[in-house]
Amino acid sequence: MSDAQGPRDLPSDSSPDAPGLALNLIGGRLVPALGGEWLPGEEPATGGLWGRVASSDARDVKAAVAAAAEAAPLWAALPAAGRGRHLRSLARLLERDLDLLAADESRDSGKPVHVARAADIPRAVQNFDFFADAATQFASESHATPDSLNYTLRAPLGVVACISPWNLPLYLLTWKIAPALAAGNTVVAKPSEITSLTAARLGALAIEAGLPPGVLNLIMGTGPRAGGPLCAHPLVKAISFTGSTRVGGEIALGAARTFKKVSLEMGGKNATVVCADADLDLAVSEAVRAAFSNQGQICLCGSRILVERPIAAAFKARLVARARALRVGDPREAATDQGALTSKAHLEKVLGCLQTAREEGGRFLLGGDRALVAGRCAGGYFVYPTVIESLGPDTRTNQEEIFGPVVTVQEFDGDAQALALANATRYGLSASLFTRDLQRAHRLAAGLRAGLVWINCWMVRDLRVPFGGVGESGVGREGGLEAMRFFTEPKNVTVKL
Ligand code: NAD
Repeated sequence: MSDAQGPRDLPSDSSPDAPGLALNLIGGRLVPALGGEWLPGEEPATGGLWGRVASSDARDVKAAVAAAAEAAPLWAALPAAGRGRHLRSLARLLERDLDLLAADESRDSGKPVHVARAADIPRAVQNFDFFADAATQFASESHATPDSLNYTLRAPLGVVACISPWNLPLYLLTWKIAPALAAGNTVVAKPSEITSLTAARLGALAIEAGLPPGVLNLIMGTGPRAGGPLCAHPLVKAISFTGSTRVGGEIALGAARTFKKVSLEMGGKNATVVCADADLDLAVSEAVRAAFSNQGQICLCGSRILVERPIAAAFKARLVARARALRVGDPREAATDQGALTSKAHLEKVLGCLQTAREEGGRFLLGGDRALVAGRCAGGYFVYPTVIESLGPDTRTNQEEIFGPVVTVQEFDGDAQALALANATRYGLSASLFTRDLQRAHRLAAGLRAGLVWINCWMVRDLRVPFGGVGESGVGREGGLEAMRFFTEPKNVTVKL
């Protein structure tokens, strides 16, 4: 690879306007795509470009998988504590570069810098620290009878693929890479082509941290050209995917033919259930957070609010007032609550969904339009926080994932209707419910068809708990031991006593 470039070729300028190149990390070297092709790196808050992203294809994937396969035996043989030390070194470098990474994440995805600084990048650090611990604390089962003893060995799988989306770029990429490495696998990861900048930084930091070459490889590029060949590669033993239900389905089909292990984290259409006895202030502030955090671009966002009829009018009035107060603006400004949507294509999708809601007879209590931000961000992809009512559970607006700052409100009477409405979707990722009645809370939690239920809160995360959804939201679970189990193969050994 004569065209290899060292880490110095990544933008080292900490100016937020420095141009960037998102290169692949293959075998411990930062390299452009073998075909020499590039994708534009867009800054959604301005509509301009921050730089270029390597546009990889099957040749780059082949090189990355070969590097990962070569590195696999030594990495697997390293004691867990040694793997953990490498993960911690990477965590410390991410921590050191917090400001730079937060600025890059904001520039590439449109989210406010202060959000990336307080949430996205610290969580990436936490992912590596958490799974560094998990590496040393992971244990396997044993089952004894008077006549025999069974013990289960859990070996790494070898080379695994990690494919992530654009909404929480570094946060979700590292949520996969960290457990895969902790469990002793080598990784070929493909971040979203729409947000590759912090992934490229991670590649440079992996070199600086002294991660052995080939243990972590990063392939930039599109799903069809790079992700497809990665999933199809015969040496890839497992695919951990987070993204849309459509692509997850395609990956599952391909993996079924080749008998690869698959974990799928996909879309959501999550309900926020507000009972008449709820703490109204709490319910309103959490419902606003659930609906509009990250411009509504989180799989866990509560995009359907169900409110019990006696408090519906009061709740809606407060919800609209709080959502109206959210400041849409330049992601670099500390006062900005709502940044840009992550791409022009996504802006157009969200605006199309708003048009559908109008055609379906939705009554807009707030928003409904593209937001124009003056100055530097005049060409950016902003949408006002939007609240819609008067739409039934079967409308497209209440069935299809919009993934934008758009929430609907429906009213219900009693538990049975609350559950019927909450569960009236093909998705089943998360739900949150608000009530002061302990028994009612547990009854409703048990009846909600979702992988995650929050009571009197939203998105309170503990990295140890099983994370994932049911139905079209996912197959399998991430987090804690679930992730360590996914990334290992159990082998039971029986000893006759
Ligand atoms: P997407 O499915 O379009 O892309 C996700 C990733 O898959 C990208 O890296 C993409 O390049 C890659 N990809 C696309 N086609 C591929 C193919 N044929 N083979 C292999 N890889 C391919 O999703 P997106 O638009 O980037 O992300 C938004 C979606 O992600 C939303 O539906 C959201 O709900 C979901 N999401 C789910 C979770 C979760 O934990 N359940 C978390 C975040 C986002």
